[in-house]
Amino acid sequence: MRDIELYQMLLGLTPPWEVSAVNIAPASADRPLGEIAVEVAWRSQIPLVCPSCGQGVARYDSRPRRWRHLNTMQWKTFITADVPRVNCPTCGVKQVRVAWAEDASRFTELFEAFAVQVLKAVRSKVQAQGLTALSWDQVDRIMERAVARGLDRRSLEGLRYVGLDEKSFGKGHDYVSVLHDVVERRVLDVVPERTREATDTLWATVPEAQRQGLKAVAMDMWEPYLEATREAAPQALIVHDKFHAARELNKAVDLVRRKEHRELKAQGEETLTKTRYLWLKNPKHFTERQRSHFAALQLDTLKVGRAWAIKEAFAPFWNYHYTGSARKFFDRWYFWATHSRLLPIIQAAKTLKRHLPGLLAYTKHRITNAVAEGTNGKIQLLKANARGYRNFAQYRISILFHCGGLDLYPSGCAL
Ligand SMILES: [Zn+2]
Repeated sequence: MRDIELYQMLLGLTPPWEVSAVNIAPASADRPLGEIAVEVAWRSQIPLVCPSCGQGVARYDSRPRRWRHLNTMQWKTFITADVPRVNCPTCGVKQVRVAWAEDASRFTELFEAFAVQVLKAVRSKVQAQGLTALSWDQVDRIMERAVARGLDRRSLEGLRYVGLDEKSFGKGHDYVSVLHDVVERRVLDVVPERTREATDTLWATVPEAQRQGLKAVAMDMWEPYLEATREAAPQALIVHDKFHAARELNKAVDLVRRKEHRELKAQGEETLTKTRYLWLKNPKHFTERQRSHFAALQLDTLKVGRAWAIKEAFAPFWNYHYTGSARKFFDRWYFWATHSRLLPIIQAAKTLKRHLPGLLAYTKHRITNAVAEGTNGKIQLLKANARGYRNFAQYRISILFHCGGLDLYPSGCAL
């Protein structure tokens, strides 16, 4: 068997495509891996058709092209071909489709599928680059194409419960807003910032018909999110879950601690030094050291101790299944909180009261952004892996690639 026949068989080419030559370039000083270029030619009397409209058309000319393919052993392998172009009276000059690659790609479908698989497995662009011998830009392009493919094929049919969440991005107070499908556990999309405008843009990524089918949306008590959602999906119930309430209450406890710590320090007291996380952490997850440190603090004599007790006392709210009982519980808790003489706690309680319908909605639709919290961990990891995210667009592609639950592979190449 000659090399031409061997490659014809390995590539599984069918007419009109045929291998016409196999060119071998051994490794050299400026080429660390040997390279094989398999030359493929259009060898057929099959009449040409326009790739856009399908009508029979005349050949116009041809263009040389080259695609990276899967390696042959340790040899980097390419397919090269003079691809015919046709002159269609309706569509103009078009290049005919090749059987092994998508239109705009410089990689064969099998190679792209392999690169996608490597990227999914290692979750680090740098490592994927090393394993595939691709450049940074090539990795980016493969990811972009994979996500575009996935979004194109994605169905949002039957979307009922989503979560809208903020996520810090980069240094300081830059935020991104993330929309999740909390049932299928996938990120639907992500936009920079958390303004009203940004949230509108985010909602626009969900087609109108699916927005109208939404039953409930879990989200923060953040005005722009609320406004945009009331407009995008007016029939959907807004739900604030324990994470969102905890965020408000934790903020308040921390404000009380900071003020009290300053006052105590002014009197030379270090009681509250290094206690910040003790007040924010769930005591169930304390380490032995934290447990004894916390036990040594005299809760009743500290303002932050009282603030903490009020925060903790809110927890049973989430166990109610009847709106009436949940409301009664809330009223009792609210009375206590607003009579605490702790300004941040009073303000947090008022915020919760303003959003009481969203808190009570949880008794009916027990959806949470807990899924989102899991995804957040994944997103955090991407950030850590990615020191090189040069801009938001790439960050978004990475999130959708790894957390979007998308079908990323070229057609017929699900490995
Ligand atoms: Zn045409």
